[in-house]
Amino acid sequence: MKLFEFQAKNIFRDAGIHVPESALVKTTSEVKKALSVIGYPAVLKSQVLTGGRGKAGLIKIVQDESAAMDAADTLFSSPHRVNTILVEEAVDIEREIYLAITVDPVEACALILSSAEGGVEIEELAESAPEKIFRENVNLEKGLQPFQTRNLVHALGLEGTAAKETAAVLSALWKVFRDRDAELVEINPLFLSRSGEVLAGDGKLILDDNAEWRQDRADAGREYFDSDAAFEAAKEGIPYLQFDGDISLMCAGAGLTTTVYDLVIDEGGTVANYLEFGGPNYRKADKAMELCLKNDSKVILMVTFGTIARADVMAEGIVSAINKLKPDRPIVTCIRGTNEADAVKILEKAGLIPLFDTEEAVRTAVALARGDS
Ligand code: GDP
Ligand code: MN
Repeated sequence: MKLFEFQAKNIFRDAGIHVPESALVKTTSEVKKALSVIGYPAVLKSQVLTGGRGKAGLIKIVQDESAAMDAADTLFSSPHRVNTILVEEAVDIEREIYLAITVDPVEACALILSSAEGGVEIEELAESAPEKIFRENVNLEKGLQPFQTRNLVHALGLEGTAAKETAAVLSALWKVFRDRDAELVEINPLFLSRSGEVLAGDGKLILDDNAEWRQDRADAGREYFDSDAAFEAAKEGIPYLQFDGDISLMCAGAGLTTTVYDLVIDEGGTVANYLEFGGPNYRKADKAMELCLKNDSKVILMVTFGTIARADVMAEGIVSAINKLKPDRPIVTCIRGTNEADAVKILEKAGLIPLFDTEEAVRTAVALARGDS
């Protein structure tokens, strides 16, 4: 689960990291009120979950009230669904540093990423000058070691108070990373201000959903999801990812669904949504198809393979979903697993043409999406 900047910054602040003075607001008149306390210049920061807000014009620096009112109106009416704005005092920046901790799945440890050249161009920097990004693995059992912090501060070319404070930020960030079961904690930029302060200018925090059971987390509302379908799927416990292509995937198993996704791309097709209705969800064909139909897709592609979950139950579910929902687009099925022969009979009886080869099913779906007959 991704958190909004203001949530990440609240957590950072609680961990002892300095953040600029701010207020969270929902209307233009609240912006005015907040600024009467914070003063000018100030920064209006749209609270949306997508990155690159600076480049998308969703971060505005304002020098006076009339500019602030105009900026607030523009942001609240932008097509990016801006419901809240974080109004912040503007920091007089001397340097912008990139600092993050994430998971290195291959090495099975944590990974610190940092650069003296932080800010909105960090992705470009990673491409054009990867040597400017400092990387250090941290053993999860041993935790962050003092020498690693010193290495980082040295690599960033920091001295004196800035070095000391940045080291403290890294320790605090490490604690947040572990305590919150995070997949990513990121501060980009970490400001070194002209008055010598070190402050989190931005905050990104992605929490590992698999650790939800041991974290006291509030239920995520609609604003955390990319679409209504993604939100509903989460409420049902159905793994779902939103894309914007032509083929709705309704497959069993994360590995198989991912493989089918890759095959679709290989065949020149595009994916509308990734939906996994295997495992504990194999009796939820109705809901799964309803979610697929919420997409503007051209075909629904169902693939299961070698499932322990009964294929005949899935086939019955699919047929019942078709009868109930009367889908307005073709359905391609390749249902293989326990009781497959019964599944085939059930699908055929409902007028479907079951396929037995995943790649053939993918090719069929891609051709249908393209409009070939
Ligand atoms: P992102 O583009 O979504 O990562 O949004 P950020 O919060 O990182 O803001 C983008 C950029 O806006 C930063 O890299 C800064 O250059 C600029 N910015 C944000 N806050 C301030 C501020 O207080 N003062 C100044 N001068 N620039 C700021
Ligand atoms: Mn940023």
